[in-house]
Amino acid sequence: MTRDHVKLFIPGPIEVSEDTFRAMCKPMIGHRGTGFQDLYASIQPKLQKLLYTKNPVFLSTSSAWGVMEAAVRNLSVKRVLNCCCGAFSDKWNDVSLRCGKEADALKVAWGDPILPGLVREKLATGRYDALTIIHNETSTGLMNPLPAIAEVVRQFPDVMFIVDSVSSMSGVKIEMDALGIDVLLAGMQKAFALPPGLAVFGVSARALKRAESVPGRGYYFDFIEFKANHEKNMTPSTPVIPLIYALAAKLDDIFAEGLDTRFARHQKLAGMVRGWGKRNGIELLPGELYQSITLSCFDNGARADSKGRRIDVPKLQKLMKDRHKILIDGGYGKIKGLSFRVAHMGDETEETIKELTGALDDCLKGL
Ligand SMILES: *Cc1c(COP(=O)(O)O)cnc(C)c1O
Repeated sequence: MTRDHVKLFIPGPIEVSEDTFRAMCKPMIGHRGTGFQDLYASIQPKLQKLLYTKNPVFLSTSSAWGVMEAAVRNLSVKRVLNCCCGAFSDKWNDVSLRCGKEADALKVAWGDPILPGLVREKLATGRYDALTIIHNETSTGLMNPLPAIAEVVRQFPDVMFIVDSVSSMSGVKIEMDALGIDVLLAGMQKAFALPPGLAVFGVSARALKRAESVPGRGYYFDFIEFKANHEKNMTPSTPVIPLIYALAAKLDDIFAEGLDTRFARHQKLAGMVRGWGKRNGIELLPGELYQSITLSCFDNGARADSKGRRIDVPKLQKLMKDRHKILIDGGYGKIKGLSFRVAHMGDETEETIKELTGALDDCLKGL
């Protein structure tokens, strides 16, 4: 093993390349000067292209939760519908309530998707002015059927459509404008493979209009502050400039690879990891139609009716770390130990995923 550190195959933060670290190590610049404005302006069109949007894409010096909380605080006066299908989406309901919003949880079992019919039924009550959904629920490795849900949400013009794509943005195509998404957000330590501390989020014109009249937006995450500063190629407060250098370099890499090639690479890697599970009789938690493309969550008893093989997850984790300097995840929240997850996002390649599955095979033998 030549690696000098434990490589992260957990679904965030993920492995960060030497090139990315190097991109961060540049002299500091003032965030109210032309150097920063030029940097901001240079990445904006690339972010818009990546999100398939004409909307502004703001930079938040926070982890994703900052923007997840902000979206609710900026956009709802009536009542929020939080679609809940795992740890992060369940938590969003809790966060909405903690922000003093009226909020309901539309709950399905962990590992199951949010289906459009359910959403329609809830929104038809007319009680809601905002809906939150997690595109790729990282705790269960589940990808919700976003286009079908978008079609439903768009039939309710008063409802703000807030989408967390924290662990899917840049690994999977998400067309913000075509889907009518009002807020599309992601933290940079997942599929972008940057160190944590920066989030990006696109906001639609109608969401910015809504925010103007919503009380209690605060300051740090006020969408209207973001918009006013954006018009000058700036952020409301001092941003995490080293991560913005890293993002600029990463966006260049992304477009050098090409979006479609990047999306296809993630598909291919997902197929390789799923294949490893199949060969070893280990089942994925979500059903076939809803399996995540950027990470795999294997079922180790999370579903009462699952028939797949059971393994000693903590032991597998330990062997992976000791023998191969690879960290995998041992299950999140209430399905800790009853599932395990491996990420295949960011800079991973067929070669590195082969190394991962080879290491997993080696360690399975030791269980
Ligand atoms: C990781 C993750 C979050 C939380 O991100 P933080 O960076 O910890 O704020 C939210 N949603 C999803 C889907 C995630 O994967």
